[in-house]
Amino acid sequence: MTDKKYSLPLSLLKKTNDAFGHIRNSLPHRCILCHQQTPFFKNYLCATCRADLPYPEFLCLGCATELPNETKFCGHCLTTLNSHSLITACDYQTPIKELISSLKYKKNYSAAAELALHLSHRVCQYIDLGYIEQPQLLIPVPLHRYRQIKRGFNQAELIALHLGRLLGIPVANNCTRVLATPAQSHLNSQQRRHNLDRAFKLNSPILANNIALIDDVYTTGATMRELSQTIEHSQKITIQYWCIARTLI
Ligand SMILES: [Zn+2]
Ligand SMILES: [Zn+2]
Repeated sequence: MTDKKYSLPLSLLKKTNDAFGHIRNSLPHRCILCHQQTPFFKNYLCATCRADLPYPEFLCLGCATELPNETKFCGHCLTTLNSHSLITACDYQTPIKELISSLKYKKNYSAAAELALHLSHRVCQYIDLGYIEQPQLLIPVPLHRYRQIKRGFNQAELIALHLGRLLGIPVANNCTRVLATPAQSHLNSQQRRHNLDRAFKLNSPILANNIALIDDVYTTGATMRELSQTIEHSQKITIQYWCIARTLI
């Protein structure tokens, strides 16, 4: 086989690909948030909206509350032992709220890429500062099978896949949600405490000793805690919690 034999199909393929790229980019594409036209197909957010996403400079590594200066923990977390680092991009506020809703309820999958990109900045910031080690594996918080069938996808998994691509970390689905529990937001604090008891199951051993659990929103932390307890019950492992945003409660 000679190079010549392959030069024609390859160049044709490239030309066809370029042509499709031009057609795709010449179609109107609108920013997910402000709906202004964007120049390229992959501009899910326009440059202005992307630059305006909330990103507090310093957050506590234990509870993700905003801090006035660069330090690892807030006063409260300094005095309590946090066994899991919590990494978020920002609080659950406009327009992050709208991006998450757009993903979950309007199936706007490109929002997952934007949310993952936003969180990846915080992850890289913490790795550069030496606050966290890069995990070897990302595990999305699973949805119960019924809820996933109803929604058609697991938003945490989509975010994890984008994060994995951005950071070069594999994604695994070792866990399942075996209990169809009511949403935490519909329960009082007493009900929330027991709502997730034995909600998860670890299907196979996790072949890593440092992982990050991925979810869209962190509220009370009950979901992350229950899932990490399920994993830690079977194996000794370092677990970080990665969520796009933390709810102000
Ligand atoms: Zn915009
Ligand atoms: Zn804290």
